[in-house]
Amino acid sequence: MSPALDYAVVGAGMFGSVFARCAAEAGRRVLVVDRRPHIAGNCYSEAVEGIEVHRYGPHIFHTRDAGVWAFVNRFTEFNHYRHRGLVRNGDRLLSFPINLATLHQVWGVTTPEEATARLEAAREPADGDNLEAWIVSQVGRELYELFIRGYTAKQWGREPRDLPASIIKRIPIRLTWDDNYFDDPYQGIPVGGYTRMFANMLDHENIRVETEVDFFDHRRELERAASRLVYSGKIDEFFDYRFGELDYRSLRFQTEQKPGDFQGASIVNYTAADVPYTRIVEHKHFALQQTDRTVVTYEFPQKYDRGREPFYPIRDWRNTNVYERYRQLSQTGQVIFGGRLGSYQYFDMHQVVGQAMATAKRELSEGRQTTARAA
Ligand code: UDP
Repeated sequence: MSPALDYAVVGAGMFGSVFARCAAEAGRRVLVVDRRPHIAGNCYSEAVEGIEVHRYGPHIFHTRDAGVWAFVNRFTEFNHYRHRGLVRNGDRLLSFPINLATLHQVWGVTTPEEATARLEAAREPADGDNLEAWIVSQVGRELYELFIRGYTAKQWGREPRDLPASIIKRIPIRLTWDDNYFDDPYQGIPVGGYTRMFANMLDHENIRVETEVDFFDHRRELERAASRLVYSGKIDEFFDYRFGELDYRSLRFQTEQKPGDFQGASIVNYTAADVPYTRIVEHKHFALQQTDRTVVTYEFPQKYDRGREPFYPIRDWRNTNVYERYRQLSQTGQVIFGGRLGSYQYFDMHQVVGQAMATAKRELSEGRQTTARAA
């Protein structure tokens, strides 16, 4: 008997939901399961006192890919939020990523020329291929200590010299007064929240969604129910950790309701090593809302172990090698892997949308006439 479904998608986060939508629009029948009681993965948001709270950390959508932007705009309107970072270190509150305003605050410089001269004097030749060596070679030790060292050590649970520079290369350094966090032309926060965007994406006659279904409790059933499996969970878990466990970093969130406006900005990063949290998120500022009350979340990085949520893949040398073995194994089978956990990549949302769209296009245009449809 042929399976009743074309695809069983594991994970209702960004990869699974975008793939499901693309497949459904191509006439395929899709079941999406998620072990959590809700859709939207780590993008999940919900209203608290009329404020949309990002339950698994702040999510700011940004992309330079017009196709990705057009796709997500089919399911929500985006507001005109533009992210500007702030760093708190002791009594100082500084503009971040490093730009002319930052260098004015720290060194008193006022022109790009003065800033260039100060930076050139501060830079040290890179003494290795790691995060610390790279950033010190760009901005010098003083700025590294002020902005990077404490935050990075807390965030990743490792010294910056033991981490790859790629983690930090995503953040621009600018010698202009442009204090935008991202360079991307398309940015915003979904009006009505991320969860509603996902609900709209999954709202299709060919898609069925089941939450609180753990793939590993129903593996046989799901594999039989569909012609093909799409998996966006941890790749090491999928293969029963046969090449060893990959490392992840986890987070703990502490959310509080308060009167008024707590910090006047959506995110303040706390870069001092002796403050236990990395950032405070004030959710109402994402929605550009003015309300009498506010909801803030303190973000505490923590060690990952099985039972906790894996948020960040730690792609150091060991993990990259272990992942490579899983990746090669994944290519010998019929299962489609994607997303942050399925690809073991520190992806942003727009990269996952792009990955899922490209995967679906390849999959659906190959004319892979699945048995369910042929039946
Ligand atoms: N980072 C830092 N200080 C900051 C902000 C970021 O040292 O104030 C470093 C840190 O290593 C972090 C990386 O830059 O992991 C990437 O930061 P991003 O804001 O992109 O992290 P995300 O929002 O994805 O957690």
